[in-house]
Amino acid sequence: MASAVKYRIAEIFESLQGEGRNSGRPCLFIRFAGCNLKCPWCDTDFTERFTLTKAELLKEISGYRAKSVILTGGEPTIQKGMAELVAALKDRGYWIAVETNATNDFDAAPWLVFVDYIACSPKLEFPEAVRLSRADEVRVVASSESVVEFCRGLMKRIEATDYYVSPCDHDGEIDFATAKSVLGQLAGWSLSVQLHKILGFR
Ligand code: SF4
Repeated sequence: MASAVKYRIAEIFESLQGEGRNSGRPCLFIRFAGCNLKCPWCDTDFTERFTLTKAELLKEISGYRAKSVILTGGEPTIQKGMAELVAALKDRGYWIAVETNATNDFDAAPWLVFVDYIACSPKLEFPEAVRLSRADEVRVVASSESVVEFCRGLMKRIEATDYYVSPCDHDGEIDFATAKSVLGQLAGWSLSVQLHKILGFR
């Protein structure tokens, strides 16, 4: 029987990954609508613009060149039907990454074990909401010096290969100074610049 799930989509576009270990990789971004957090500084438009069934979504993305898919949001782990979508993407040979705010773990989103890459970005404002215990990379925005303790705590809570601090973007002004200062107080963390903001691609 065909799936009745309709995926709630904000946008689908092809670009280069702008952050973290996969920076520069050509990717197809599927931005899902909705988020379970309300970060006061959020600048991501994750408004639902259309819905697609799995078949419609697979047909839509088949027209793009990139064979690496980034499931992002909003928060993709709150979407229904992700297990079957991830299985279908795998069947078609896509490399699959997820960008999550780390508030759902493998019990809440068991399909996460089938993706190729998990990038998580826990939020300083919601430390108690972090549930994820392992990922490929952890990224934290250096919004203030107070992320230092947050980052130290995350290293104990989330097992990852790479830990990144990203400079905060204040209305187009990228604050490298705070990021540099934060990195100077942390062991095992590196800088992840947001290439898309610096080079002007999306
Ligand atoms: S978790 Fe991300 S998408 Fe959700 S409100 Fe925070 S910054 Fe925005």
